[in-house]
Amino acid sequence: MFGRLRNKIIFSFCVLMVGGGALSTTLVSRTMSRTLGAAVDRSGSTLAEVLADQLTEPLAYRDRLTTHRVLTGARESNADLVYAFVVGPDGTIIDHSFPVDRFPADLLPLARTTGPRTVQTEDGTLRHLTFPIARGVLGTLHVGVSMTWVDAATADAVSNVLVTTLIAMGAGILGILLLAHLITRPVLALRDAADRLGRGDIGAEAPVMGSDELADLARTFNRMAAQIRERIAESEALRAYVERVLDQMESGIMVVSGSRRVEYANRTAVRRHGPLEDVSCFEVMAGERPCDHCPVPEVLDTGQVLHRTYRAASGRTYELKWVPIIGRNGQPAVVERALDVTERLEVRERLERAQRLAVAGEISAGIVHAVNNPLDGVRRALDLAADRPEDPERVQRMLGLAKEGTDRIAGITRTLLSFARGDEAQDPVPVAVDALAEAAVSLSRLKADARQVTIETDLEPDLPEVWMDPQGMEEVLVNLVLNAVDACPDGGKVRVSAHTRDETLEISVQDSGPGIPVEAAQAVFEPFFTTKDTAHGTGLGLPVARRVVEAHGGELVLEEAELGGARFVARIPLRPAPQSLEGTLG
Ligand code: ADP
Repeated sequence: MFGRLRNKIIFSFCVLMVGGGALSTTLVSRTMSRTLGAAVDRSGSTLAEVLADQLTEPLAYRDRLTTHRVLTGARESNADLVYAFVVGPDGTIIDHSFPVDRFPADLLPLARTTGPRTVQTEDGTLRHLTFPIARGVLGTLHVGVSMTWVDAATADAVSNVLVTTLIAMGAGILGILLLAHLITRPVLALRDAADRLGRGDIGAEAPVMGSDELADLARTFNRMAAQIRERIAESEALRAYVERVLDQMESGIMVVSGSRRVEYANRTAVRRHGPLEDVSCFEVMAGERPCDHCPVPEVLDTGQVLHRTYRAASGRTYELKWVPIIGRNGQPAVVERALDVTERLEVRERLERAQRLAVAGEISAGIVHAVNNPLDGVRRALDLAADRPEDPERVQRMLGLAKEGTDRIAGITRTLLSFARGDEAQDPVPVAVDALAEAAVSLSRLKADARQVTIETDLEPDLPEVWMDPQGMEEVLVNLVLNAVDACPDGGKVRVSAHTRDETLEISVQDSGPGIPVEAAQAVFEPFFTTKDTAHGTGLGLPVARRVVEAHGGELVLEEAELGGARFVARIPLRPAPQSLEGTLG
């Protein structure tokens, strides 16, 4: 390029020199012709004037011999005078400097001219001048003055100009070559450095030559290259840092392009699958084509994150996650994160097994506790009956106590069984909620009266019929009301309310008892949690009630009571159409 630049400079210079040379040559030749032509005119006119003087007398006396002698003598004595002739007032040629009767025919037209003319003849260029003899009375003298020397002088001057121009041009070209070399050397060096930098040689520097603008340019380039080096070093450090972080990750991380090539893999992924440079993700999975249900196109199409759990042939389990990103070349790609959860799952399974065992242990202890007491009673009653078999009345009473005990055990096992099977709720039917609440209240009335506890109801007028299991829900309400009565041993108040709110039926039972401390709020719903003595409490009432309510798609929660004690609220969605409750059981 810079070679071409130098050629351009030389070519432009040559064009300028040639143009300038041609122009100056033309100017010189024109000026010389004009100046020397005027000189010829002046000397020719003087000659003609002298000659006209000499001819006046011979012409007046018609002395042709003298006239001819004057004309030929003048031509012979003056080398620049090519010819001379006299034209009479009538236009005829009276005499001339040529031999007698040898007047050249091509000069005849000139005999009629009056002003000066430049004429080309075989002898070269000449100037034709006229001069009136005796103010034209005796005719006009015509002379031809040679201009050959003028041509020669002009040609000489032009050739001098040309030679000067050529010498100047040669010197100029040499100068230009030197200048071009001085300019192009640093520019070429700069270009080479830029080329090297462009090819990735970040150490490339341009030599600084001298202190001119090109040296400034080289310095600027070097500063720019240093900044690029700095930026590259910074981004390299950042890349290495991110890579170190990614390599420390427990998850295998790969970036897969839209064409399924692995763009990046962290150390965990490489440890799992081996080298991943220039392989496709299905090759990673030892396949020859993309896997069935390949998640990459789906993630790219929808732009959504996908999760899957995958159990590999090795028996290990991975939690996989695919996230769409913009890949290395600015094209959409997918990050695949594979976390080996095998150990975690095993630990969780062990933990769950241990928890199940603990729960089983707790439940067994609860059952043993719940069954042991009535069983003790039964044994004691039977022992007492056996002690005095002769007393039939006593035997009868003791057998009655023993039956009560076995009934209680049977009740406990029945409740336990239904709790374990989750069959608390039967198929739903439309139930009048106010009637259901009233029934529960009347079933609890006996015990309430004995404890001097008043039960009041707060039922929304025109409550709708709700699809539910009437028997299960009645048991729930009776249980809640009896618990509320139990909480008021020295008399008090229990309120049963039923309202509808936002497509939900809300039935609550609250009391004026001591309430339930916050720390026991969750425990009351756990099986076998009871604060009652063994004859009265099993700790199964609330857990069973909660399961029944949940089987209706609702919830049973403990809330603050206006009456000061506990308030249990059952919220059941108002079902628009009948459906089995079984499907909702957990
Ligand atoms: P149980 O009545 O056989 O004890 P529940 O599951 O019905 O079993 O009740 C568990 C425990 O919750 C009771 O022993 C009692 O301590 C507490 N509880 C239930 N209802 C109330 C209430 N209304 N006020 C205070 N405590 C209550």
